[in-house]
Amino acid sequence: MLIEGMDAFICDKCVTQANQLLAQELGTKNTKNIQAAITLLKPLEIKNHLDQYVIGQDDAKKVLSVAVYNHYKRLNQKIDKDEIEIEKSNIMLVGETGTGKTLLAKTIAKILHVPFCICDATVLTEAGYVGEDVESILTRLLQAADYDVAAAERGIVYIDEVDKVARKSDNPSITRDVSGEGVQQALLKILEGTVVNVPPQGGRKHPDQKMIPVNTNNILFICGGAFDGIERKIANRLRTQAVGYKVKKDETVLDLKNLYKYITPQDLKSFGLIPELIGRIPVLSHLNPLDKETLRNILTAPKNSLIKQYVKLFAYEDVELIFEDDVLDFVVDKAMEYKLGARGLRSICEAIMLDAMFEIPTQGDVKELNITLDYAIEKFEKADFKKLQVA
Ligand code: ADP
Repeated sequence: MLIEGMDAFICDKCVTQANQLLAQELGTKNTKNIQAAITLLKPLEIKNHLDQYVIGQDDAKKVLSVAVYNHYKRLNQKIDKDEIEIEKSNIMLVGETGTGKTLLAKTIAKILHVPFCICDATVLTEAGYVGEDVESILTRLLQAADYDVAAAERGIVYIDEVDKVARKSDNPSITRDVSGEGVQQALLKILEGTVVNVPPQGGRKHPDQKMIPVNTNNILFICGGAFDGIERKIANRLRTQAVGYKVKKDETVLDLKNLYKYITPQDLKSFGLIPELIGRIPVLSHLNPLDKETLRNILTAPKNSLIKQYVKLFAYEDVELIFEDDVLDFVVDKAMEYKLGARGLRSICEAIMLDAMFEIPTQGDVKELNITLDYAIEKFEKADFKKLQVA
């Protein structure tokens, strides 16, 4: 077949050949990129990057930085005579909602040199039921890699809300648990590394569809979940251990406000994850609950902190916006009081700033806006935040 251009033709064979050449060229570029990434980004540098956007959570940051760095190394490995193969180590991040799990994943995505996608485990169900097949996770990755299968096979996937696929009850025989254990079984094979047939458009598989085979051997999986109620399981375990014969004299005092710190794979099992799945996610890390000081830092310190965003919004109107210090304390106090966490900071700020954002654009003569504590309290009370209070 000849394809017509402006004043020349090209035949189908030449198109195919040129395509192969391009693919080869891009492929070598890709490996070069990854090699460059290793020399560029040491774990400490990855963590420094995370520090600019995410406050605290040092343990999780360290684990992530090392995991990503090792991921690059694994992609570059050549298995020579010693036959030592670096295997991937998938990661589990456990922490209350709103403590920065997704933020960590998103931030790390920005500096990666491999395809990355974030997907949600809540929509997944066992094959044949309403919902999405587990393979749709890989569809996302393929989309992130522009359907370049070779690139997708080196990617990183963040699976959010993984706790939602926990087994709902200890007795599996009463009803089918199609969004729980069934999904875990399906996740197993993907996490472990096999060739999976992926529907290119996601959603439900059907027989007439053309599938794309994707090898998950080199794909790194990071799972995140709040595991609501797991503190009780941790507490139970700690208590049962403490009442043994071998109570150590030098037992350190437990940090009861942050039991996540003591999480072990055993707790995930009692929460309802199947042991096979836990075994395939060998790295377990936690995120700390946010205290007052951290919340205060979140308001001002990150590169795109809320306060900086408001200042920029007003700068577009040529207005210099200043928040007095006690206003920031007030916002943090209210977020703590209403148990809204870091997500609440935004809604509280929004309530305080709404009137100003409404009026300033039409008041041409304002050059400076000073948010005082009295102003903040007045606007906050007007917003009637009581409705937001968590019971
Ligand atoms: P989750 O742990 O539920 O995934 P997110 O990462 O979505 O929580 O956090 C929600 C929002 O709270 C983020 O968009 C971010 O603005 C803020 N936030 C939470 N934790 C932190 C943190 N440690 N540092 C900076 N911002 C944070």
